Amino acid sequence: MDAIGLFGGTFDPVHIGHLRTAVELREALGLKRVLLVPSARPPHRAPPRASAAQRFAMLAAAIGDEPGLVADDRELRRDGPSYTIDTLAELRAELGSDVALCLCLGMDALAGLASWHRWREFTDLAHLVVVARPGWQAPASGPVAEWLAARWVRHPAALQAAAHGRALLRELTLLPVSSSQVRADLAAGRSVRYLVPDAALAYLHRHQLYTAADRGHGQDSP
Ligand code: ATP
Repeated sequence: MDAIGLFGGTFDPVHIGHLRTAVELREALGLKRVLLVPSARPPHRAPPRASAAQRFAMLAAAIGDEPGLVADDRELRRDGPSYTIDTLAELRAELGSDVALCLCLGMDALAGLASWHRWREFTDLAHLVVVARPGWQAPASGPVAEWLAARWVRHPAALQAAAHGRALLRELTLLPVSSSQVRADLAAGRSVRYLVPDAALAYLHRHQLYTAADRGHGQDSP
C-alpha cells in the first residue's frame, strides 16, 4: 500500500539537516510524500523565535518544488497546543485506512515520548520511524520500551504491509547543523549561507528575523 511520512518540528528556521532527513526517509522507506509540519505552539519547549506563519513561509520556500516533499500548515490552522495525536487523527481521517502513515521522530524525541499527549495511541494511527542520533539510545526499559517491544520491524517493506502499529529504527546522514546554531550565528552577524536553503535565507533577511535587534516571539530574546 502507499505510505506517507509525517515529519514535525519547529523549523525555527528550517535548515539543510531537516531537508536531507526528509529526502533520505522518503527514499529509504519508499514514501509517496513526506509532510513537513511546523508546530504552531509546541507543547514541549519554549515558544519559537519566529511566528508560526514565518516558519511555515521559510519551510515552504526552502522546499520549493522538490518532488514528494510538502510543507503542511495544518497545525497553524488549529487552536491550542499543537498535539501530534491531533495531527495523526486528522491525517488518518483524510487518508482512510489503506495508506501507511509513518510518524518520523528523532531518537532524542523518543526519549521524552512518555510526556507527549496520548502517546500510546500513536500506533493506533501510524507507524513510528525513529531516526538514530549520536549520543542517544532507544530506551531499554520503562513504558516506551515496553510499548515498542512487540512493534519493532527490521525492514522498511514491513511498514507498507500494514497501515499502522509498527516501529522501525533508521540511521541517516546527520549533518552537524541545528536551528539553534543558525539563530546564534545570525544574532552574531555571521553567515548561514549553505546551512539554510537560499530561498529561506532570502525570506529571513527580508524580514530581518533572528538578528540581534529582532526580539522575536519567544526563546533567545534578551
Ligand atoms: P533547535 O536547535 O531549535 O532545537 P532543531 O535544529 O533540532 O532545532 P527542530 O525543528 O526542533 O530542529 O527539529 C525537527 C526535527 O528535525 C527533529 O525530529 C530533529 O530530530 C530533526 N533534526 C534537527 N536537526 C537535524 C539534523 N542536523 N539532521 C537531521 N535531523 C535533524
